[in-house]
Amino acid sequence: MWIDVHTHLEMLEENPGQVLDEAAKEKVNHMITIGCHPKDFDKVCDISKAHYPTIAATLGVHPHDAKFYDDKVEATIRSRAPENFIIGIGEIGLDYFYNHSDPDIQRNAFSRQMEMAQSVGLPVEIHSRDAEDDTANELKRCKGRNTGMMHCFSGTEKLARAALDVGFYISISGVITFKNAQTLRDIVKTVPLDRLLIETDAPFLAPVPMRGKKNKPAFVAHTAKVVASIKGVSEEDLSIQLKKNVKSLFPKWNI
Ligand SMILES: [Zn+2]
Ligand SMILES: [Zn+2]
Repeated sequence: MWIDVHTHLEMLEENPGQVLDEAAKEKVNHMITIGCHPKDFDKVCDISKAHYPTIAATLGVHPHDAKFYDDKVEATIRSRAPENFIIGIGEIGLDYFYNHSDPDIQRNAFSRQMEMAQSVGLPVEIHSRDAEDDTANELKRCKGRNTGMMHCFSGTEKLARAALDVGFYISISGVITFKNAQTLRDIVKTVPLDRLLIETDAPFLAPVPMRGKKNKPAFVAHTAKVVASIKGVSEEDLSIQLKKNVKSLFPKWNI
């Protein structure tokens, strides 16, 4: 049984019912659909509400869209956070690769959402690309006050350490199956099993052997297989451990 901790169901062509049927065939029984942009919050919530607890949801403003984060958006997230199916804040973070929002604006939105997550008592899902030092600094600043995970981790060992040091989890996407991802495979060897998670980030980043196709939660099973072999554990043992990890990071989710 697998849990996809980061997917974007409102971006998929298939309706959630079809996605769940296909996922169930690959033993993917639960997933978290992620809010990125205020304009999609209603859709994300509707999908989760209709299928909870199979599908849980998070709300947050992606670094690309940090320029849209303001008091009104924060109030919306705060008012929805108590709903049973909202189990986290995300995705939030920093992306200096694209810089779709100005870096100063990204840092401000990231910090404010870390603090909001503290005050509503929910874990965060963090996106970090080409922004390692600033991400690590924010993690350090909030040490002991936030819980969370690094989504689609593809950073350096230094960033992995910084995240582990503050008690965060490292979530591995299909990137781990790519030929050129040896660095990531080496890092995963050093991450304790009780701090790992897996995700698709669908519709992006389909794993080998599905590369070129649009990603979907069912494909997380391929990522699981590779993680199990890197960690030298059976798929069954990995699945039991990952479920424990999900339950401890997302205590609100009754799975
Ligand atoms: Zn992301
Ligand atoms: Zn994402």
